[in-house]
Amino acid sequence: MTDRRKKVVIIGGGITGLSAAYYVQKKIKDHQLPIDLQLIEATHRLGGKIQTVKRDGYLFEKGPDSFLARKLAATKLAKEVGLGRELVGNEKGKSYILVKDTPHALPDGAVMGIPTKLSPFITTGLFSPVGKLRAAADFFIPKTKNQDDRSLGVFFRRRFGDEVVENLIEPLLSGIYAGDVDRLSLRSTFPQFLHAEHKYRSLIVGMKKLKEIHPQHGEDSEFKKNSVFLTLKEGLQSLVDGVEKAIDPDIITKGIKVEKIHKEDTTYELSLNSGKVIKADSVIVTSPHAAAQSMLSEYKIFEPLKHMPSTSVATVVIAFAQEALQDNLDAMNIAVSRNSDYTITACTWLNKKWPHAVPEGKVLLRCLVGRTGDEAVVDQPDDEIFKIVLEDLKKLITISAEPEFYAVTRWKQSMPQYTVGHHDMLDTMNEQLEKELAGLYVAGSSYEGLGIPECVEQGEDVAKKAVKYVQQ
Ligand code: FAD
Repeated sequence: MTDRRKKVVIIGGGITGLSAAYYVQKKIKDHQLPIDLQLIEATHRLGGKIQTVKRDGYLFEKGPDSFLARKLAATKLAKEVGLGRELVGNEKGKSYILVKDTPHALPDGAVMGIPTKLSPFITTGLFSPVGKLRAAADFFIPKTKNQDDRSLGVFFRRRFGDEVVENLIEPLLSGIYAGDVDRLSLRSTFPQFLHAEHKYRSLIVGMKKLKEIHPQHGEDSEFKKNSVFLTLKEGLQSLVDGVEKAIDPDIITKGIKVEKIHKEDTTYELSLNSGKVIKADSVIVTSPHAAAQSMLSEYKIFEPLKHMPSTSVATVVIAFAQEALQDNLDAMNIAVSRNSDYTITACTWLNKKWPHAVPEGKVLLRCLVGRTGDEAVVDQPDDEIFKIVLEDLKKLITISAEPEFYAVTRWKQSMPQYTVGHHDMLDTMNEQLEKELAGLYVAGSSYEGLGIPECVEQGEDVAKKAVKYVQQ
């Protein structure tokens, strides 16, 4: 190791970049390392897609609503920055899938759409008798021979037939990515299904066994037993604020955009929109992939990112007084299948999921619009989107008064799509990076998982790599 102080620069102050900064700083402090750190964020706030709104006693999220409890990286980070006691688990409620015009209760025992109990599947109106018989073929169909990547659609249609895929698996699984099951990569989105098939042959048997070994809720016994999701009492922004507070303020630069990254010998030169050029020994790029590709456009390694699609979505939050609604469904969640005439792709009753976030006597709905192949709605003006969503809701529940307010948030090109071959593309890119641009790392929702815990995990991982690299 040389005596010269080394410098790590992190680009992007979303949850990935913040986690990376937190864990690089921790290493520096724990081991008294002669390393300087800087985080550069293009906007004037940190958090990226995480944005909590507090309004008239309501608390809601414009972007991500919560994170999976069983993926522990975000919980660990929250605890490390002193927010462990702020974590709160969701309440349980009824979930429905909307097919054509009919909401069907989610069959009991469906684990991410895969049946693990037989009788609810035999009695559900979600599938025809022929569809149910076809799904039962899962017990006999041999496991896939080769392990090549394939779409979720190809994989699940083979095991369960089209009806179960379209009326149950697609609305549940592709909703997370706002994607298309026939394009999303099995290996990069839900590899556990491939492993379950490999180990147990039948997915029905496999998911039942896995459910017994790894229950769905978080392993942390302090949270409500059935909470699949976690947030913080003051919203996800408080996790961002907590991490920001734990980082030395001198490290963070807001309102400055990195325009180009160029390597000169062993040093990286970062051109900023302020006209300044800063130097770094290691760079962690956590911006969405299109911005990363643009910063690094002189390097062919990143060409594949140009072809990586992203989907646009919008969240629509609507607040009502309880008496304005007559809700016979008593739903907490509705996922909408593509086999329906609705524009919303999902709706959550936030007052049921997060009672702490909604005043007594009020109903707060959060709907999503936009998914691969159906994104035009996102470009409509706010009042048009609101009208479309309200018309959809009126087909499901009786609404007899105007809402107290609504809030539309557009997320253009915000959901990276891990299409078939995504993992191979990343492997090739990382191999070439190591050879040609050693010390430069990419991380975040465009690469190894878009959930908040996966982003935190990637941030921690690249933090370790960058610190190790500059110490060589
Ligand atoms: P971002 O949050 O996009 O942050 C990247 C940052 O980089 C931004 O702050 C940006 O300004 C900055 N940047 C970009 N270019 C530059 C540049 N040139 N120079 C400097 N800075 C730059 N996940 C869940 O776990 N649970 C959910 O419920 C959930 N729901 C979601 C709902 C919606 C509507 C959306 C859009 C996403 C949802 N997600 C959810 C996914 C999750 O929110 C994201 O994957 C995650 O927040 C991404 O974090 P990130 O830090 O990788 O990227």
